Amino acid sequence: MQFIETRGNDGQKPAEVPFSQAILSPSASFGGLYVPKELPKLDEAFIQKHKNSSYKALALDFLENFNIDIDKAVLQSALDRYDAFDDADHPVELSQIENSVFVSELYHGPTRAFKDMALQPFGYILSSLAKQRGENYIIMAATSGDTGPATLETFKNQDNVKVVCLYPEGGTSDVQRLQMVTEDAKNLKVVGIHGNFDDAQSALKGLLASNTFKEELAKKDTHLSAANSVNFGRIIFQIIYHIYSYIQLMQDDTITYGDEIYLVVPSGNFGNALGAYYAKKAGLPVKKILITSNVNNILTDLINKGEYDLTSRSLQKTASPAMDILKSSNVERILHDMFGPKRTKELMDDLAQKDRYSLTPEELARLQEDFGAVYSDDAEGFEVIKTYAQKGYIMDPHTATCVKALQLRDDAKTPAVIYSTAEWTKFSPNVLKAVSGETVSGDKEALEKISKSYNLPINEKIASLFDMEIAQKTIVDKEDIQDEIINFL
Ligand SMILES: *Cc1c(COP(=O)(O)O)cnc(C)c1O
Repeated sequence: MQFIETRGNDGQKPAEVPFSQAILSPSASFGGLYVPKELPKLDEAFIQKHKNSSYKALALDFLENFNIDIDKAVLQSALDRYDAFDDADHPVELSQIENSVFVSELYHGPTRAFKDMALQPFGYILSSLAKQRGENYIIMAATSGDTGPATLETFKNQDNVKVVCLYPEGGTSDVQRLQMVTEDAKNLKVVGIHGNFDDAQSALKGLLASNTFKEELAKKDTHLSAANSVNFGRIIFQIIYHIYSYIQLMQDDTITYGDEIYLVVPSGNFGNALGAYYAKKAGLPVKKILITSNVNNILTDLINKGEYDLTSRSLQKTASPAMDILKSSNVERILHDMFGPKRTKELMDDLAQKDRYSLTPEELARLQEDFGAVYSDDAEGFEVIKTYAQKGYIMDPHTATCVKALQLRDDAKTPAVIYSTAEWTKFSPNVLKAVSGETVSGDKEALEKISKSYNLPINEKIASLFDMEIAQKTIVDKEDIQDEIINFL
């Protein structure tokens, strides 16, 4: 299976690359992304064959059908990362919260957020490739929350890959910060910055563009890669759990093969939703993918009006920070799949030059064949958390945005799977505020209060963070980041 470029080819880069190349150097011509030339078929025979499979068996068969240039043994070891999840055979758990409404809990991995589903196996594959080739890679990330911990966790003590993670000191929750600064491994560097998330991100951009930094990387014989969801190595693992949701509903006789279901995806960079789209396109019987957002609702406008418009927007801070995103990278892969490389480049050029683009009415109609969208503000989300807490189910603020989308179904009998992207423990102060109106000074107090009120255990990995040694103590001004990182290299 070869990978092609969303914005067409510039004559400099190869027009097609194998999977390994697409994940080691994820930047394609004209700043585009890599996408698979075709998808493996998810037909009835495939689904029936896996009706009683473990997650890993399903995943391995799917990956083998994808025909990527990764050895089977490496794929198997990558999938063995799921052994560290709560249930090794079934790393994703499905809970029912209403008639015909199910929650697929994607957060049962080491950092208690859904990023682990893809980053865990992806990290293993990237490091194996680097080692096989005898090459060194560095991954740089600016994070406000979930990507940082999951990226550090997957590459911890892995050969031939170093990770630098920048976070705004004071701009993350206690749990998120502790997850990063307690990571103790020689190949990881976590740097707090005096400033906010935008400062961290612009510091990173500045660094990546700087010649001193590039020369330093060349001197150290180190290549730059990326672990965000522009990397198809993450997306490939995000197709699998959508297939698994369908199979889980077949297992409990909610559906029989061929029945269509809704998938409801709380979205930011659109990686999760893209995985759902590829599953649908490959043949999984999905009626529609419903995209949910917070007040940073640029995706709602795109899907309902065909307008992607940054000109009148500034980023709002919300209770669901992993969805506080205005430039949603993976939308580009949908545009490419529906409208081709020429049109995608045109739309992306518009976005770069005018901060906006518009779809034609025909294009919008095409988009709406597969997607619906709705957003919730924090007050609506808190109301949802409270309502379900009273019924005995605690959900986090990202997951809570999904409930409003249930109204978009043509028929309330059609089963819907909501994706839960974080455990409540990652956002406990806001969950506490939602259920009781109380405000507390830190995560520890919120965790204990919720745990007591609802008789819920606090996951041990989260609880133990508060007693662990701080291994990563660097906190610097923006100007000093470059020196700090070159020293680390
Ligand atoms: C990353 C993240 C999202 C958004 O997922 P995308 O694939 O970027 O759309 C939603 N919720 C949580 C908790 C996340 O960490």
